[in-house]
Amino acid sequence: MDRIPDELMPFIRLLRQHWRRMVPGTIGGFVALVSAVGLLALSGWFISAAAFAGLSAAAAANFNFFFPSIGVRLFAFARTAARYGERVFSHDATFRILESLRSWFYRHIEPLAPARLMRFRSGDLLNRIVEDIDAMDNLYLRVLSPTLIAGCFGLLFFGFLWAFDGLIAVTAVGLLAFAGVAVSLAAERSGGRSGRHMAHIHSALRTQIVESLQGMSELLVYDGQKHYLAEICRIDSQLIREQKTMSRLAGLSSAWLTLCSGLAMVLVLYIGVDRVHSGDMNGAILALMALAVSAAFEAVLPLPVAFQYLGRTRESARRLLEIVDAAPEITFPETESTPVYCPDVAFEAVEFRYTADGPAVLSGFSTFIPYGSRIALIGQTGSGKSTLMNLMARFWDPVQGRICIGNRDIREYNETDLRSLFSVVPQQPHMFGGTVRENLRLASGDASDSDILEALDTARLLEFVRTLPDGLDTWIGEAGKMISGGQARRLAVARAVLQGNPVWILDEPTEGLDLDTERHMMRRIEAATQGKTVILATHRLVDMDRMDRILLMEGGTIVEEGTHEELTAGPTRYAAMHDRLRI
Ligand code: ATP
Ligand code: MG
Repeated sequence: MDRIPDELMPFIRLLRQHWRRMVPGTIGGFVALVSAVGLLALSGWFISAAAFAGLSAAAAANFNFFFPSIGVRLFAFARTAARYGERVFSHDATFRILESLRSWFYRHIEPLAPARLMRFRSGDLLNRIVEDIDAMDNLYLRVLSPTLIAGCFGLLFFGFLWAFDGLIAVTAVGLLAFAGVAVSLAAERSGGRSGRHMAHIHSALRTQIVESLQGMSELLVYDGQKHYLAEICRIDSQLIREQKTMSRLAGLSSAWLTLCSGLAMVLVLYIGVDRVHSGDMNGAILALMALAVSAAFEAVLPLPVAFQYLGRTRESARRLLEIVDAAPEITFPETESTPVYCPDVAFEAVEFRYTADGPAVLSGFSTFIPYGSRIALIGQTGSGKSTLMNLMARFWDPVQGRICIGNRDIREYNETDLRSLFSVVPQQPHMFGGTVRENLRLASGDASDSDILEALDTARLLEFVRTLPDGLDTWIGEAGKMISGGQARRLAVARAVLQGNPVWILDEPTEGLDLDTERHMMRRIEAATQGKTVILATHRLVDMDRMDRILLMEGGTIVEEGTHEELTAGPTRYAAMHDRLRI
């Protein structure tokens, strides 16, 4: 690796925000290393010098035990304190880096929902936000900081040895550099493929596990769990294979480091013994240098494994950037808030397809919905009702034509303004794994309990919530699994009631309800939406005579339009549908 890879640059730029926490960690690591080497070197010198001094009574009497023993204690204390400081600061920095990486990543994910995110599986996204971001801790904690420490230490150590003997300095630091640079680069090269592969295997494993847990009931019913389990085992064995390769490589680089450190020690002794014999060097100094050289390899000890996993870090970085660099399908202008006094909705020759080469889902769709009117959207499954609603909420934009609210293209609204126009009950509302209250407060954070109870009453859920063991504080299960589909839909209606925006978009809110409950709920909604616009997509032609206009859709366009009376007056498709359903 001769330069910093492009995919790591955005992360290194993000790291810079945390330099105040990173620098003390790195300084702590450096001081701990210097102290460890100093401790061993000084102790070696002290013991040997004391032994040499003991050879003659005069030398023993003059030997100064005081300063070296203070030095040994100082180094021991500094090593412990600096190591502690290094751990505290570097881990604090790392966790803060991960935290800011997660929020940075989340900020980029948000605008991609739902259009772009649909292309990713939820297990894969989860893996990116957890594992791939975790893998980025390698960058500062294991690569940047130790490399910087090793580099600075190498220079200092060279100067230190050079002061005693040039040849020993060149030999020892040469081997140290070989161990730090060549072994690390070789580890990076040989671990790159497995590391990259591991990032993908982790993602595949998580996706498979998340999907099998989410679809556990279907797997049991269709006896599909064997297939899923076999797939999980297959991916897991791939992961184990790669982990084995990585462990073998880690063992190999550790062997190389031990070899280099042993070789350095032998060479230093070989050169030094000669010097001692010729009287050019004191024996105790030789002991100092030999032990210092052996301890110095601690500086490069963490590097090969860190570089070995750099491939994984780079792959994780690439996977994160794939999301971060994706252009959102929808962008909102940062315009000033403008009040909308009369949010009439106008569709002007709207054309839409989900993918550039896909079929047209809406074509030439035009209609005007005055503020305060009640519109029913009906039509066979797949005729484009939900799509139309998604376009209003700007989850997607039309390919051609435009949608206006209050005479302004919805693309001109900032996000807050647009969201404050609509209360949406989607066809498949999402319930969060929280309590009834938490799920409702999503729509209005400051709603009081009496507001919540009123909204539940409108959605015909009050009786049900009263039967729950903890009332509003009852946990409704992961994704609302502990309540029925119809109850979840009514909770979504209660959310809309709490939000109470001027234009209501209701996508089959009564699906799965019995006729009585449906009628009752629709009447309550009618009362709650007096003077507001209601656009209701439905297959059930209940109370259609209470709607101001009915739009019958087919193939993404309006084929019939009028009031219930108008449409049932003649031989229309609507009349035939109505007769068939006999409601
Ligand atoms: P239903 O009554 O069953 O709810 P609908 O009228 O609401 O049907 P839409 O959900 O709008 O129908 O779907 C219209 C067409 O668009 C269908 O053919 C559907 O397969 C397609 N479609 C819907 N969502 C997507 C998507 N995210 N990507 C690609 N095609 C889609
Ligand atoms: Mg639909």
